[in-house]
Amino acid sequence: RVKNGSKGAAAFFDASMEREALARMKIEQSLRLAILEKRFCCAFQPKVDIRTQAVTGVEALVRLRDDDGVIQAPSTFINLATELGLIDELTHLVLAEIVKSIDLINDSFGPDTTISMNVAAKQAGNPEFMRPFAEAIEATGFPKRFMIEVTEDAFVTKTHFQDEILPIFRKLGVRISIDDFGIGYSSLSALADITADEIKIDRSFITDIHKRPRSQGILRAIESLSEALGMTVIAEGLESFEELAYLQAATKIRYAQGYYFSKPIFLEDLKLAAPRASEARAGLGSRPTPEA
Ligand code: C2E
Ligand code: MG
Ligand code: MG
Ligand code: MG
Repeated sequence: RVKNGSKGAAAFFDASMEREALARMKIEQSLRLAILEKRFCCAFQPKVDIRTQAVTGVEALVRLRDDDGVIQAPSTFINLATELGLIDELTHLVLAEIVKSIDLINDSFGPDTTISMNVAAKQAGNPEFMRPFAEAIEATGFPKRFMIEVTEDAFVTKTHFQDEILPIFRKLGVRISIDDFGIGYSSLSALADITADEIKIDRSFITDIHKRPRSQGILRAIESLSEALGMTVIAEGLESFEELAYLQAATKIRYAQGYYFSKPIFLEDLKLAAPRASEARAGLGSRPTPEA
């Protein structure tokens, strides 16, 4: 906390530092308030089978609703929430949002779609969070539809995640996905020990994949790796027809997620725009396929 109790202390804080500290305090305050008032909601982004364009799952992506109604993306508050020790509470709020939205999810995408949630690496290695979190997922009554997305660090850093936590989730039928794969610090030998169900290839490798031979090489390596380890591969951040066409023509990658198919959607909006479930599903857009 910035204190101007004496002239000497004030000298250490020039005006801009003080402004910064004040701004941070304000964000901190509004984040704490948002949690108290449960002012979080989820946008859901479809995961798509690129052969059939069927939606196989949705990922819940948290949003903060400011007291003035402005919607904030997670980049503005997730790290801070983690720093302040508020992320566990926030994650339980996301789970509660999913439970609240389950009828809309089913209406929009079908009753078998998986539901992915993001968990910060720091949480993933903490049994004190993960045990009650697993119980909360079990209590939803549909644990088998859940998939937990964690980044590579959770697997690589020596924590309780692999030995203690993963078996609990496995027993519940909850699947595990490695998010943002390829940009972390995991070495190939570390990967040999990972037991996950899905690998999500980071967007940075998918962007313009059709024109980037080096990314293509990495993609091929990830593909054979995941095949050997029995993991499903999904491409994240697919934005263009050309990227999709490349995946279809040159790889066996079957699943993708990205603006090309759909941005994260507020399901209430979907319902307003297309009250009938069939229309909601069609709301993904009848995109041209490479064959077309
Ligand atoms: P992520 O889990 O890797 O999610 C993908 C992010 O990329 C999302 O941003 C999504 O909206 C965006 N995205 C999806 N397709 C495209 C595309 O085609 N192009 C581009 N440019 N972007 C695309 P979002 O919703 O802002 O979330 C950012 C990150 O915040 C997430 O990355 C995740 O790490 C974190 N996050 C979101 N919700 C939660 C949560 O409930 N808990 C935790 N711990 N983290 C969360
Ligand atoms: Mg994710
Ligand atoms: Mg990701
Ligand atoms: Mg990413």
